[in-house]
Amino acid sequence: MAVRSLKRFVVDRVDPSVWTPAVQPADQNAPKVAVVGAGPAGLAAAHELSLKGYRVTLLEKENRPGGMLTCAIPAYRLPREGLTREIDALLNENIDLRCNQQLGRDFTIETLQEQGHRAVFLAMGSHQSRRLGVTGEDVKGVIPGIEFLKAYNLHGENLAAGHVGIVGGGNSAMDAARVAFRLPGVESVTVFYRRTREEMPAYAEEIEAGLAEGIKIEALVAPVEVLSQGGKLTGVRFIRNELTEIDESGRRSFKAVTGSEFEARVDTLIVAISEQPDLAGVAEDLQRTRWGTLAVNDESLLTTRNGVFAAGDLVTGPATVIEAVAAGKKAAAMIDRYLNGRLLKELRKVRLPSVYIEPVTAEDEDGVVAERPESPHLAVSCRKSFDEVELCIDEATARCEASRCLRCDLEFTHPE
Ligand SMILES: Cc1cc2nc3c(=O)[nH]c(=O)nc-3n(C[C@H](O)[C@H](O)[C@H](O)COP(=O)(O)OP(=O)(O)OC[C@H]3O[C@@H](n4cnc5c(N)ncnc54)[C@H](O)[C@@H]3O)c2cc1C
Ligand code: SF4
Repeated sequence: MAVRSLKRFVVDRVDPSVWTPAVQPADQNAPKVAVVGAGPAGLAAAHELSLKGYRVTLLEKENRPGGMLTCAIPAYRLPREGLTREIDALLNENIDLRCNQQLGRDFTIETLQEQGHRAVFLAMGSHQSRRLGVTGEDVKGVIPGIEFLKAYNLHGENLAAGHVGIVGGGNSAMDAARVAFRLPGVESVTVFYRRTREEMPAYAEEIEAGLAEGIKIEALVAPVEVLSQGGKLTGVRFIRNELTEIDESGRRSFKAVTGSEFEARVDTLIVAISEQPDLAGVAEDLQRTRWGTLAVNDESLLTTRNGVFAAGDLVTGPATVIEAVAAGKKAAAMIDRYLNGRLLKELRKVRLPSVYIEPVTAEDEDGVVAERPESPHLAVSCRKSFDEVELCIDEATARCEASRCLRCDLEFTHPE
């Protein structure tokens, strides 16, 4: 089933007000909770807490909420109009959203507690791009991937020019490459990756779309030195790799081929090998893990300080939007239990569909086999813009696809 396409079909057509629950205004004496970071984890937690009647202060470093959805994921994948509508539907009068407020610069966990917040939820994500660790990388023209994406998405700034090289093979690398491809002044875009294309962790559809747009992928190479003249980036010296045995990640490992070094001309180098949390503003007594994330109790999401919870990419490292939303909801449930003096344990409830929908009777039409539909895509010739690339299926296709569903829920919800 193309569940994602069907969900998107509905979300594109139905205003969020249809499913936004009514909110009771919080009592002036209701407990205050602070949420730091307005990405999917922070927004989900703030929303859930607001529905439970808490007064939520939502503090965000950037000039608008949304986290990576707003500042990193490009508009040709996630149009801003729909995103803004969804975020607005999560906010309400019980949530006091304060943008341009950075933990460690404008406030601390202690000041939040002094202001009467009875619990603090940290959801600052993983925003620090890892460095290459090679000679010369501090030169002008070398840009961390997240900084490059934020500059364009939040401020409309173009940091790329000429021949652009991207180092990395994940979604950040492909997003940076496809954004660079769309910017004026960019002549070519090449992604340099240390394994083969098959091992790239980016979504296969993103890689294929990037290739169709004209992005080149140079596989089995690793940077050894960033080259510059007069403080200005001129290129990168790479070494070729060859694949070896399968490692603990389940992928083929690699080793450098002696004597295979070569130079590539690069005017802008975007480093998108991975991200990690920026814990500079987080008090030292909150324990870190050896991966540079914040340590929490898996079940309660409590950090090593009482009353301070954390979840999302800040705890897991780079993951997905849906995992961050789930973590934010779980954090809200734990904070509610904490403030009511209850055991910090997750009660697993099976949630059945609340509405009974009559099953569609499938009609066998000779020779017609309904297959999983492919979404239409914007023509490659129109892709020098930030217009959405993957388009919505039409109503007939959506109806046909929905009728292929086996309705597993009827096992539980069919009225006798
Ligand atoms: C380029 C890119 C593409 C991606 N594509 C996909 C995709 O297609 N599908 C998918 O499911 N996932 C994707 N992801 C991953 C997904 O975006 C993240 O897993 C998710 O956003 C994590 O949610 P979060 O709320 O934990 O953190 P974030 O979304 O990172 O939000 C954290 C928020 O905290 C704020 N913040 C940070 N530090 C501070 C501070 N000191 N004080 C106050 N506020 C602070 C940040 O500004 C941000 O708004 C992508 C990620 C990137 C980088
Ligand atoms: S109800 Fe069953 S068949 Fe339908 S989408 Fe869910 S899992 Fe698939």
